[in-house]
Amino acid sequence: MQSLEALARDAQALARGEPVAVAVAPTSASAPPAASAGPAPALTAAEAEVARQLQICNACRYCEGFCAVFPAMTRRLEFPKADVHFLANLCHNCGACLHACQYAPPHAFAVNVPQAMATVRGQTYHDYAWPPGLGRLYRHNGLALSLALAGGLALFLLLAVASKGTLWSAPGSDFYAIFPHHLLVGLFAPVFLFAVLALGLGVRRFWRDVAPATSGAPLSPPATAEAADAVLRLKYLDGGHGQGCNNEDDAYTQARRRCHHLTFYGFLLCFAATGVATLYHYALGLPAPYDLPSLPKLLGVPGGIGLALGTAGLWRLHLRRHPLQGDAAQKPMDRGFIALLFLTATSGLALWLARGTPALALLLCLHLGAVMALFATLPYGKFAHGIFRTAALLRHAVEKRQPSPIAPGAD
Ligand code: SF4
Ligand code: SF4
Repeated sequence: MQSLEALARDAQALARGEPVAVAVAPTSASAPPAASAGPAPALTAAEAEVARQLQICNACRYCEGFCAVFPAMTRRLEFPKADVHFLANLCHNCGACLHACQYAPPHAFAVNVPQAMATVRGQTYHDYAWPPGLGRLYRHNGLALSLALAGGLALFLLLAVASKGTLWSAPGSDFYAIFPHHLLVGLFAPVFLFAVLALGLGVRRFWRDVAPATSGAPLSPPATAEAADAVLRLKYLDGGHGQGCNNEDDAYTQARRRCHHLTFYGFLLCFAATGVATLYHYALGLPAPYDLPSLPKLLGVPGGIGLALGTAGLWRLHLRRHPLQGDAAQKPMDRGFIALLFLTATSGLALWLARGTPALALLLCLHLGAVMALFATLPYGKFAHGIFRTAALLRHAVEKRQPSPIAPGAD
């Protein structure tokens, strides 16, 4: 392990923009014997920076109760690549450890765990992406998202004009009169299934890499239940003390947790509404449109409102976020995803409110274009955070049930 003096020297060199020698651990303290065969993969500069900071944190341990990252860190003496990937995705950028840290910039140690973790997280989305060649879309997500939105919108506008001859007419409230059901299924199903496949294969590669570094033990029902609880309650956005996390300064706030909850459950309700509507169509022979108090609307309307309010709140919080908390290069990806979710929710609600008016076709094109862009960019945007983080929480819940590799019998 490097001495604090050496770490301070490295920190000062990094602050001056000079390269530092990366000490790559020959083996992981937590890796099983099979994983220690052969040289350990070299760390990138971003991974080496996380490893450097965690060496300091491991000596300090002030933030031990804040989130799952620090207890997981204390099970390690060194931080090889897979361990860094695991810990980076276990962090969800609550900012608490930056605002609490006595070694944060301008201290010479320059400890900024949220920012260092965010940089590596972005790198892992790129590196584990499937197919690998499309991983670069994460780096140009703002552009990819704009193109997907513009392309989706143009597609539906053209189809609407081709089928109706006009975008401004009063077709009642039946949007299948504008776009037949089979056409929509034929357009959306392949894009959605590709997104599920790409995300599934990407996270499977991540899991295979981090599983040996997190004890290698298989999933168990108690570990799965604990991770599900952490995901569903967004447990680690409570700052570890229940008062919330940080956003623009060192004051605690529950706003980020509430807005995440509104967004998360709003999205799930909208997804459930679409699933139920599909069942209505195929199993019950009840085609759309549906209105209150049908089940698709009872799920979709609160879901859309929650998603719109949650994303509006997240946007406001994101604009005010302390600049040191995240990776500035990922801001377009974060904001693009928030904006697209907001557009999907509000255009869906507007579509329902505009039923029976001449604006229906135009709003339908806008809504379908937004949903198409959302589906197309799901595997290469911020949505990956939820999938990779859930996988990291599962591995954490498994690992913590195993004896600590550096203190047998502990934990
Ligand atoms: S972030 Fe700072 S205060 Fe927290 S454990 Fe690391 S060095 Fe200590
Ligand atoms: S930013 Fe929050 S979640 Fe990430 S390591 Fe710090 S305290 Fe944990």
